[in-house]
Amino acid sequence: MKKLYLVSVSGGKDSTVTMHYMLNKYPRNQLKFIFADTGWENPLTYKYIDYLDKTYKLDLIRVSSEKFKDMETLCVSKKMFPNRVNKFCTNELKIIPILNKINEFKLLGFKVISVVGVRKEESEKRKGEGLWKTNFTHHANFISFRSLKNIKKSKSVKNFYSNENAVTIYQPIVNWTTQEVYDYSKKNNIELNPLYKMGCSRVGCYPCINSSKNEIGMLSFEAVQKVKALENKVSKVTTNSKNATFFYSKGKPIPIEDIYKKNEFNSLGLDLGCINPYGLCE
Ligand code: SF4
Repeated sequence: MKKLYLVSVSGGKDSTVTMHYMLNKYPRNQLKFIFADTGWENPLTYKYIDYLDKTYKLDLIRVSSEKFKDMETLCVSKKMFPNRVNKFCTNELKIIPILNKINEFKLLGFKVISVVGVRKEESEKRKGEGLWKTNFTHHANFISFRSLKNIKKSKSVKNFYSNENAVTIYQPIVNWTTQEVYDYSKKNNIELNPLYKMGCSRVGCYPCINSSKNEIGMLSFEAVQKVKALENKVSKVTTNSKNATFFYSKGKPIPIEDIYKKNEFNSLGLDLGCINPYGLCE
């Protein structure tokens, strides 16, 4: 069976470094690159993705949800915004489109290994993760993720292992620190997403439901207006006003304009230069 490493590219530093690492270490004919477009990315990220595609000749596969056109359609259809407990945005806009593509490659006879730039340091929840793991999915539209640790406890472990829809995940930089990621990019002259130099610690959806107050305070006027318009749309269809704002604080919904005003970054409009703490501009 032909082996295929399907490398996820998001425009973030971790996935970019992973992309570069895979290009250096693995035969090019075993590599494919994929970008899941949520329709809710920063315009600079879209430009950056094009730059990566062209510069590294990725022949990037771009996928998006077949069911929901983008984040806006998703939130209006669900009559609510995603939140940290119910993160349907990731499932619908990223995981399912990528799983569908994986299944397509499997049907073509490939053994697919999904390569992701996940790092332990990013989250407490990920502490137990290793270089390789296997997730199990019965169908792309019905995701059943289980960690290998939990699977081992299951009596029906053999059934899971023999599941034809098992997806093997390779996380080559899982043990890297943030500093190591920046060092690698510097050593290899990798141009990172310009959002990092502008002070973002993470790039992804713009904004992401997990954005910090600082990140919300750094949103552009256009982005605030975009969220506000969506909040208006969702509030017209939802029956629960708690579900009608993109952000929450202590369980209470807060309209984007309120949270932005409180945290607006650089309201004096000073020229701050590079504000990334990892010496990106040295
Ligand atoms: S980046 Fe944030 S908003 Fe976008 S899909 Fe992931 S969790 Fe949801």
